[in-house]
This record gives sequence, C-alpha cells and structure tokens, in this order.
Amino acid sequence: MRELKRVLVTGGAGFVGLTLCERLLAEGAHVLSVDDLSTSAPGAESTLTRRPGYRFVHHDISTPLHPSWLAGGFDTVFHLASPASPVDYLRLPIHTLRAGAFGTATALDIAERCGARLVLTSTSEVYGDPAEHPQNEMYWGNVNPIGVRSVYDEAKRFAEALTFAYRRARSTDTGVARIFNTYGPRMRPDDGRMVPTFCRQALRGEPITVTGDGLQTRSLCYVDDTVAGLIALARSDYPGPVNIGNPDELTVLATAELIRELAGSRSPIEHVAESPDDPQRRCPEITVAAEHLGWRPRVPYREGLAQTVSWFRAHIGAMRAV
Ligand code: NAD
Repeated sequence: MRELKRVLVTGGAGFVGLTLCERLLAEGAHVLSVDDLSTSAPGAESTLTRRPGYRFVHHDISTPLHPSWLAGGFDTVFHLASPASPVDYLRLPIHTLRAGAFGTATALDIAERCGARLVLTSTSEVYGDPAEHPQNEMYWGNVNPIGVRSVYDEAKRFAEALTFAYRRARSTDTGVARIFNTYGPRMRPDDGRMVPTFCRQALRGEPITVTGDGLQTRSLCYVDDTVAGLIALARSDYPGPVNIGNPDELTVLATAELIRELAGSRSPIEHVAESPDDPQRRCPEITVAAEHLGWRPRVPYREGLAQTVSWFRAHIGAMRAV
C-alpha cells in the first residue's frame, strides 16, 4: 500500500479539504494546504495551524505556485480547489471554470514534476440530470453545456478530460473520484446546500424550505466516509473514474423531516420553487469503489445527520451572523 507522507491539498481550507487534511495529519503526513479562501468558512485557514506537519499558503491555484513551496516535493496531490455549492459557483462562474481548467493544470504539473499521484475530486454533476439510475461510471451524462450550472459541470468534465490526457500523454499517476453529495460538520451554514440550510432553519425555528414537492431524491455521504474514499483512491493505482457516494437514497422531504426531528425543532416545512437544472434524482452505483478500493460508506443517515446537527448547534453563535 502506498504511503502518504508529503501531501499537497488544494482547496484544503474547504469543507471536505479540512477533514481530509485533519485525517492525513492524524496519520502522520506532512500537509501543505493551498487555498484562496474564495468559498471557505471564515477563519478556516487557521483551524489546523497548530498541528505539527501542517502548512498553509493563501494562493489561487489557477496560477502556478511559487517554486519555494514545492521544495522537498510531494508523494500525493489532492486537487479539491473549486467552488462546490451552487450558491458559490453561480456567484463565481468564471473563477469556477478557471479552477477546473487552469487550477487542474497547475495541480497536474506539480504532480508530474514531483512524480506524485494526483487525486482529482470530480463530481456526480458530470452526469448532469441523469437519464439512467443509479449512475455508474460508464454513463456519459446528460449535461446542458450552456445552462447556469454548466460552469461547474463543464469545469469538472474538462478537469477529468485533462487528468486523463496527462495520464495518457505524460504517464502522470492519477485517480479521478466522482464525489456525490457529501455532508457533515464544517459546512458553511450559508453555502446554500441542502443539509446546512435545513440545519440552520430547523435550529432557528424558521420554515424549512423544500424545493418542489420534495419527492426528488438525494444520496448523502457523511464527510468521514468521503474522505476515507479519497484516501483509499490515493493509496491505490486505480485511475478511476470512481463514484464516491452513498447509494441509499432519501427524498429531500424525508431529509428535512429527519433533521427537524434531530434538532428537536417545530419548524414548518415550506415548499418553494425548484432551481433551474436541479436534477430530480442522483444515486451512485458504487460497485467499482467496493471492488477496486475496498470502500463503501459506513455512517448511517441518522448518525451522520445527528453529528451534523450537533455541530451546527454548537456553532449557532457564528450562524446568527449569517
Ligand atoms: P468548499 O467550497 O467548501 O471547498 C473548496 C475550497 O477550495 C474552498 O476552501 C475554496 O476557498 C477553495 N478554492 C476555490 N477555488 C480555488 C482556487 N482557484 N485556488 C485555491 N483554492 C480555491 O467545497 P467542498 O464541499 O469542500 O468541495 C471540495 C471538492 O470536492 C470540490 O472540488 C468539489 O467540487 C468536490 N465535490 C464536493 C461535493 C460535496 O458534496 N461537498 C460533491 C461533489 C464534489
């Protein structure tokens, strides 16, 4: 099994990035986190600064890193840097496309120069509004190339294409993970994604806003499981793409009701208009992850959502400012 000793994490101050860095540090790795703080939570860059082996550099990965940061090299590069929530990528459309294109090229160039393995965090959004259920890695997707969400979907599709081009043309060691909806502590309460929105609304006693009739499904993976999948991919030789997600589907309405119960809230459910290009159904087929990485999600919804609600409850002071 590969050792992860000197690791570069782009987007390391983000929701998934922080949990990944924390796990790597706990396993004894030296971690350089590169983040431009464009979509991270306030103060996220200082969360891990006291941990031995951790360094942080404030930098937009769409431009090359100063060579002094590359001294000593890396054995692994995790490329996470990209706005990820619809609120963020609709606010930062060009930044998102640049992160997918130039940012991925920067990360691949570093991996190539160091002889490191690069793990790209792609997304289930490459499947668009899928015409097949569940989605396996052979499905090519149903994406509107000029819709409002295309800045993210196409950025990630390009990032995947570039990663496979480096692998084929330059023998760069790469692995592509397609992450499905991930949730957990450290999400920004205002990032617009379903779980933090429902937690915030439930804990404040405000109406919980469910889009449409709420019968559209989501499959939610707890962040610790997602991070375990990314590390398993980094330790393997598998090129991917590999779906990292939870195949247990839950309707949006059922998610709202469960979060309301876990928060001990009396918030009413309020149905609101659906957003454009919002997929009706997303569900990963994870046979590839099980066979090639020995990975599958472990944390059940009730347990993961309870952890998440209690994290948001503990951070309710910061949330009041949102
Ligand atoms: P996030 O927005 O919390 O974290 C992304 C981080 O990248 C932020 O800290 C942001 O400041 C940083 N960043 C953005 N552009 C950058 C740039 N040009 N240079 C340097 N840093 C930059 O999002 P997240 O949920 O942690 O997602 C992490 C990765 O996982 C993303 O690539 C995302 O596309 C992918 N992903 C996440 C999910 C999910 O449900 N969380 C699902 C699918 C894919």
